[in-house]
Amino acid sequence: MNIVIFGPPGAGKGTQSKFIVKKFNLYQLSTGDLLRNEIKNKTKLGSKISSIINSGELVSDEIVGNLIEKFVSNDSYKNQIIFDGYPRTIIQAKNLDNLLNKYKQKIDIVIKLSVSLETIKKRISERQVQEKRTDDNDEIAIKRFKTYEKSSKPVMDYYIQSNLLKVINGEAEISEINSEISGLIDAIKG
Ligand code: ADP
Repeated sequence: MNIVIFGPPGAGKGTQSKFIVKKFNLYQLSTGDLLRNEIKNKTKLGSKISSIINSGELVSDEIVGNLIEKFVSNDSYKNQIIFDGYPRTIIQAKNLDNLLNKYKQKIDIVIKLSVSLETIKKRISERQVQEKRTDDNDEIAIKRFKTYEKSSKPVMDYYIQSNLLKVINGEAEISEINSEISGLIDAIKG
């Protein structure tokens, strides 16, 4: 099964993905982590994208598309991927469908974690203390939220149309969200 986990920055996508990975034996594909790795390893791509990420804007659809193809094309991950932070634009959503099609796969469910801007600000400033991400300060966090608001609506509409979208309250306790997600996944596993 392939899952998309969707929601604003600080919604808890990473936390929930890690839980699903363990429980359902899947692989987490976080485009944010892949991009940060490029920066950490000082690759050519890393130097190109660091200023974009630190301004709260999105990296180009082409760059992230190339990064995810490496995963989708790899047989060891076939039908076992959680897409965390991808797709974020309608172009990415369509690219993902085409790519999965090409490798005879599909998305089984899209889980959206819904969280208010107020909660996001609080969570991101806590995360800033723990993880020291260069894009986790108040100003850039708000910018990232605005970027999300601008690009997410068409993506949501796209998944509503294909009947894949399930919305979960991301403000609940972590364990509560865990069990809601498990319930949804169990239901589609049949
Ligand atoms: P968050 O969801 O908390 O913003 P991520 O780790 O998912 O954190 O992403 C961090 C940054 O990486 C984003 O603000 C963006 O610049 C870039 N990024 C991640 N995923 C994508 C994507 N699918 N398309 C374009 N840019 C992306």
